Amino acid sequence: MRLVLLGPPGAGKGTQAVHIARAFQMPRIATGDLFREHATQETDLGREAKAYMDRGELVPDDLVLRMVSERLRRADASDGFLFDGFPRTVAQAIALEDHLADAGTPLDVVVRFNIPESEIVRRIVNRRTCPTDGSVYHLDFAPPEHDDVCDLCGTPLVHRADDTEAVVRRRLEEYHAKTERLEYFYWERGLLRDVESVGPVEEVTRRTLAVLDDIADGDAA
Ligand code: ADP
Ligand code: AMP
Repeated sequence: MRLVLLGPPGAGKGTQAVHIARAFQMPRIATGDLFREHATQETDLGREAKAYMDRGELVPDDLVLRMVSERLRRADASDGFLFDGFPRTVAQAIALEDHLADAGTPLDVVVRFNIPESEIVRRIVNRRTCPTDGSVYHLDFAPPEHDDVCDLCGTPLVHRADDTEAVVRRRLEEYHAKTERLEYFYWERGLLRDVESVGPVEEVTRRTLAVLDDIADGDAA
């Protein structure tokens, strides 16, 4: 299966991506994580991307697309993948569509996570993430079992530099200005499915897997 998770920052894409990727045995390609890895390794790409990320702005399309096309060339992506945080602009969506059309492997579905804007800031400012395996925690809603370390791999959790209220507001502006229009882009192509992302994490996972099972059954029929 080839799928995209769409939704504003804090909608729960990363949280659900980990569960879905495991359930369907597919690689999770999170462009934000890839940029953060580059930034940690202090590559040229990482340095350039970090300046945008710290301000809550989108990284320019050419940098994103170069990184994604490299990632898609890896063998593990040949049988399917899950994109978390990509595409985020129409130019990125068109580039992805063209790339997949050339390969004869179009997207199967785009899941849009719906969340009221009032929930977003409180989800984001208390988010903690595992830089090793991408697990996502929340100090109140989904705390780790042991203070400040990942339940799965024991890595110390991080509070992202862009997870402050001021930067989240900027990221939301970027979402409304540039990413939200992808909902129409994918709706027009008959690929968009909605999932309510308020409620317990396991419940949102159950709703998402129900949508994906439906798509997989449709493909098999
Ligand atoms: P995104 O990847 O869309 O930015 P995340 O998956 O990182 O969002 O979730 C943002 C924050 O909200 C995290 O701290 C996460 O633990 C928390 N969260 C995710 N899903 C839920 C949920 N269903 N209920 C409460 N908190 C959630
Ligand atoms: P995320 O981890 O998805 O919340 O992304 C964190 C930051 O990385 C964003 O605010 C952007 O600065 C950058 N980023 C991640 N993915 C993209 C993308 N597809 N296009 C542009 N910028 C991105």
